[in-house]
Amino acid sequence: MTTRPRKWWGWGYEDEALDDGLIQRGRSLVKSGLGIEPPEPIRPPSLEDLRFRSPRIDLPASVSRFCTDALFDRASHAVGKAYRDVVRALRAELTNPPDYVAYPREESEIREIMAYCEAEQVALIPYGGGSSVVGGVEPATASRYRGTITLDLKFFDRILEVDTLSRAARVQAGTLGPALESGLRPYNLTLRHFPQSFEFSSLGGWIATRAGGHFATGFTHIDDFVESVRMVTPRGVLETRRVPYSGAGPSPERLVLGSEGVLGVITEAWVRLQQIPTHRVSATVQFNRVADGISAVRTLGQSGLFPSNCRLISPVEAFGMGAGDGKAAVLLLAFESHDHLLEPWMERATEICAGFNGTWRAADAGERESAVDSWRRSFLQAPYLRDYLVTLGLIVETFETAITWDRFDELHRTVLSAVDAAVRRVSGKGLVTWRLSYVYPDGVAPYYTVIAAGRRGEELEQWAAIKAAASDAILANGGTITHHHAVGRDHRRWYADERGGLYCSLLSAAKASVDPRWIMNPGVLVTGPTG
Ligand SMILES: Cc1cc2nc3c(=O)[nH]c(=O)nc-3n(C[C@H](O)[C@H](O)[C@H](O)COP(=O)(O)OP(=O)(O)OC[C@H]3O[C@@H](n4cnc5c(N)ncnc54)[C@H](O)[C@@H]3O)c2cc1C
Repeated sequence: MTTRPRKWWGWGYEDEALDDGLIQRGRSLVKSGLGIEPPEPIRPPSLEDLRFRSPRIDLPASVSRFCTDALFDRASHAVGKAYRDVVRALRAELTNPPDYVAYPREESEIREIMAYCEAEQVALIPYGGGSSVVGGVEPATASRYRGTITLDLKFFDRILEVDTLSRAARVQAGTLGPALESGLRPYNLTLRHFPQSFEFSSLGGWIATRAGGHFATGFTHIDDFVESVRMVTPRGVLETRRVPYSGAGPSPERLVLGSEGVLGVITEAWVRLQQIPTHRVSATVQFNRVADGISAVRTLGQSGLFPSNCRLISPVEAFGMGAGDGKAAVLLLAFESHDHLLEPWMERATEICAGFNGTWRAADAGERESAVDSWRRSFLQAPYLRDYLVTLGLIVETFETAITWDRFDELHRTVLSAVDAAVRRVSGKGLVTWRLSYVYPDGVAPYYTVIAAGRRGEELEQWAAIKAAASDAILANGGTITHHHAVGRDHRRWYADERGGLYCSLLSAAKASVDPRWIMNPGVLVTGPTG
């Protein structure tokens, strides 16, 4: 397990300097995209600039032995990694840190801390990688809680068993993406779940938020990979049976998937694995008319070919990522398999694209970097670039949804125009770019990025107005408030509308049966006795 300290205020490791190339890319993006001269970046505050209240509770020895109130730990667990989190950290405005951070090594310690929290009315927040972008790991604010403890699962980081015959592994929930994949590699197996936050997010966090990996079709959601799960709740341990499929009633795994820490702490799961792909083909397809690109993606999504990558990137976004000329929409197309050659699949896929006036080229083995490679590099660097742009005072954030094909055009048009209007109203200068990031036979998940000029000190209000315009437009046009970012605190208002009162009360009743004192991550996903 790595002990290299991570940045407390943003993405990456503390000792990691930003690449010069990335800085230059960020600055030229501001100049060419927004038409403004990029200011000098502000320096992140030092830990000593933070003024934290003393812990509001005293811990008994039975739990204090694996808890800390050190400033670094409280600061790095005070918020997640959304744009608004980075802004608040850069302003040294982490006003509601947890009182303690707990680092249990055994389930018995989790049970002990839960019992303490129940007895003392203290909120308990499960924490994996802390990459939540929806306020999912922020401490409770309701006054009925005497304090908050964040429970970090970083010591639950082992692969406990590998069943090579069934191709499955039992993995502890705090295992981060890189450790999980490197532990499976000797078996020639992979979970093949690669969210953009892969580096700093955990299996338990993926399950709790129903994360989406970077493959555009087929098995890509963590939902598909969970065979069984084990969760410690204040009322006991819930462990589901390990079977490939069960028709026995509503699926218990599905209740744990997306539970966002409000039901209990996921400690481990059996996950379905795949053999590491050995065959790969990729191509980039250009569409001079965006509408043609969208039709091609729909046809590919309904073709049964299931490409691993099938991302249509808007002209402006493709240009920003170094994958296009800024005029054409770019489709990144790829197939992967451990079993068979993929040329016939690619041939048929490009034939479909040609039917919609797409012009394509395969990645050439000799070329230094294909558009697919430069897209992948940009994808992985995006969180670092985002933080740099925030230090320049820019508003930089993403939002996403999913919608069936019959309503896509209307939703996409309305969202773009509502967000564009909000950006112009609150900021004056800004860009809204998009890509189609997941493709289903019956619909699609568009992903939007906003980059706008911020006014120092007012950025959070500016972003809140843009986000509200986006979320209102999404809900009004039949989309979901989140395709894969989860509900957290930030989406709860819209989630309540989307799911309706009856379902929300069903969920609250489920919570009350395992967490009657409502100590597990209060304020996230569902409202409780005190909101
Ligand atoms: C730069 C960036 C890129 C991202 N890209 C993607 C992406 O491609 N796809 C995607 O789906 N999401 C993405 N996200 C969002 C985020 O990474 C996911 O929601 C991820 O699944 C969270 O995992 P985590 O371990 O960091 O969880 P945390 O942030 O620690 O927690 C998230 C939620 O899960 C709960 N939780 C965590 N661990 C447990 C546990 N063991 N038991 C019970 N509850 C738990 C927490 O209480 C909280 O409510 C991205 C975020 C960032 C900052």
